[in-house]
Amino acid sequence: MEKPEVFNWEIVPTYLHPPEMIIVHRVADLRKLVREQLNNGKTVGFVPTMGALHAGHGSLVKESVQENDYTVVSVFVNPTQFGAGEDLDKYPRTLESDAELVGGLGADLVFAPSANEVYPFASTEIEFGIRTLDNHFCGATREGHFNGVVQVVTMLFNMVQPTRAYFGLKDFQQFAILKRMGKELHFPIEIKGCPTVREKDGLAMSSRNTYLNAEERKQALFLHQSLNEVREKARSGSSKNELLEFVHSNATHFDKIEVQYFDVCDPDTLQPIEEIDPSKPAIALMAAFCGSTRLIDNLYLFDA
Ligand code: AMP
Repeated sequence: MEKPEVFNWEIVPTYLHPPEMIIVHRVADLRKLVREQLNNGKTVGFVPTMGALHAGHGSLVKESVQENDYTVVSVFVNPTQFGAGEDLDKYPRTLESDAELVGGLGADLVFAPSANEVYPFASTEIEFGIRTLDNHFCGATREGHFNGVVQVVTMLFNMVQPTRAYFGLKDFQQFAILKRMGKELHFPIEIKGCPTVREKDGLAMSSRNTYLNAEERKQALFLHQSLNEVREKARSGSSKNELLEFVHSNATHFDKIEVQYFDVCDPDTLQPIEEIDPSKPAIALMAAFCGSTRLIDNLYLFDA
């Protein structure tokens, strides 16, 4: 099929993308295509995203293509995971280049629904209890965020019904919550975590990096650099308080940076660790504003 001159995906129900990748916008079309695969005994890998795709997302797609017969990528900027005053409206929407990228990596289908398709009953509110995994970090600083994430991933899992689903460990708390959700809700889906992909200088790739101006882009390195130093210090015996002090005083040298949270926690429970013990796994998590852009990153201090 020829590429339409004006790519208006709202009015183009299905669109054959070169070479053979298909974009669908309706759940019924998605189901039909995935069901055919499953009925033929094929495995289906699923990569949920909000689009504005980069090599970090690409690594999840590659992993899925390697491990499954058929790969579905969803592109949906989910309104229920954004809080008031967050960047829902300005979040970049680049469906055409997203499709190029994942098609080039071997994905078979892009599912790009409208908000009406995902939430046909605008009044439906679903509350998920995530217990204690969300009482710190992004859960504490973005009210309702993980409720929205669990809501949309549950819906997407029901729509796609994949064999495996792939998430980035860059969003470590999100991964921990979704892994737990998979177990608690008995989804017959293998949930896999993939390592963080970084720019050459170490900045974790993120769709939000496109918001940064040149100076902010330089200062954004604060996150990865201080996490690396934190790891060095923790491994040379620094206490938790010394690590906290280091991060907050280091931030004062970066005029665009404001640390929103930094702490060290148990990677299984996501509860802060008071005494750092090198014989136990520990991960440092950080969120910082760089100008008005909120960035997150993490680093294992001691592996499992
Ligand atoms: P998003 O589009 O930001 O919702 O991300 C979709 C998926 O890609 C999530 O599972 C993210 O954790 C993952 N992801 C985003 N950035 C990266 C990265 N730099 N490396 C690995 N995975 C990532």
